Amino acid sequence: MIRINEHFTKLKSSYLFADIARRVAAYQDAHPGRSIIRLGIGDVTEPLPPVCVDALRTAADEMGRRETFKGYGPDHGYAFLREAIARVDYQARACAIEPDEVFISDGAKCDCGNIQELFARDACVAIPDPVYPVYLDTNVMAGRTGPERAGRYDGIVYLESTPAHGYVPGLPAPAVERIYRWVPNHQLATWVDYAKRNRAIIIFDSAYETFIRDPQIPHSIYEIDGARDVAIEIRSFSKTAGFTGTRCAYTVIPRTVVGYDAAGNAHPLHALWSRRQATKFNGVSYPVQRAAAAVFTDEGRRQTRALADFYLGNARLIRDALTGLGVPCAGGENAPYLWANVGRDSWAFFDLLLDKAGVVVTPGAGFGRCGEGHVRISAFNSRENVAAALERIAAALA
Ligand code: PLP
Repeated sequence: MIRINEHFTKLKSSYLFADIARRVAAYQDAHPGRSIIRLGIGDVTEPLPPVCVDALRTAADEMGRRETFKGYGPDHGYAFLREAIARVDYQARACAIEPDEVFISDGAKCDCGNIQELFARDACVAIPDPVYPVYLDTNVMAGRTGPERAGRYDGIVYLESTPAHGYVPGLPAPAVERIYRWVPNHQLATWVDYAKRNRAIIIFDSAYETFIRDPQIPHSIYEIDGARDVAIEIRSFSKTAGFTGTRCAYTVIPRTVVGYDAAGNAHPLHALWSRRQATKFNGVSYPVQRAAAAVFTDEGRRQTRALADFYLGNARLIRDALTGLGVPCAGGENAPYLWANVGRDSWAFFDLLLDKAGVVVTPGAGFGRCGEGHVRISAFNSRENVAAALERIAAALA
């Protein structure tokens, strides 16, 4: 009799976005032919930037010729991509990150989920609420929590983001060893200071860095003094360059970030992650890494900036329309999502918009207890669909 990992049974039966997909499919079956506009999961809608398409084509040709064919690539990514990332995303912003501190992967989701393998089973973890569900669920799977009670897992320190505090969570009490963060903000220095004082590690998921326009908001946690000792940063090409279906991301682990064994000896996390990836991961395809590297050319940076500006334009339209309807919103500036305070049960509001407007949003409760009363609206869609969705939402709420 093979025994299962029983920690999986503590999880809610399905992943949030699978739940939403199921409700939308049921609605579609019941109302065939009714058009649905998705402002939910946050998949991009605009095609790949032309520089990336050209790079993919050229690389495909190389793969088709004996002289330029490539088999397995280097474990942690091709030097051309790691060097471009270190130069453009870090050194140009005065962050001392070296190419060999950058690990290429096929997604921020996997990296956010896999990184917890480096830490002890009983390491105390702080996670924002609401949050990207991957941070929480992967720690549950790893056995780092007790059972769920009323939407909370025993053993997790929840960092509450509520309207009362401008949606910015406060610092955890000492004793937390690992903190997940993903909202870019002005308070990063206090978090780095906390991590240094408590020998904690910050896992900084910067998947939406491309949308930052406020010059006061750091683009990387390594812009903060001391972060090289306490922070791991995860970034993705998914939203930067429309790679959700192409798959490329990276994790930065400076050689100076350490964790401790039971005897108190320091171990660089860089070496542990390097070992983990070499054992369990065989790299991202050569054409995809070439396409990602094209993002760092002058033309690539122009094209990807225009792409982010387009989605930010959608976000502005959504924000103005909802505010006009009397629905207070946070976000949508320096970020492609809006957090709408709908003042009622978030799944009920989800059902109302689906039923009356044929518009899909994400119920805030799916991101944690503090998400209740809110929905997340994504700016990833065509301008035409956003305009149509806003008209339908106005009619549904009239
Ligand atoms: N991190 C956050 C906060 C996200 O919202 C998402 C995707 O929606 C990801 C990571 C996943 O990125 P990737 O497509 O690189 O796996």
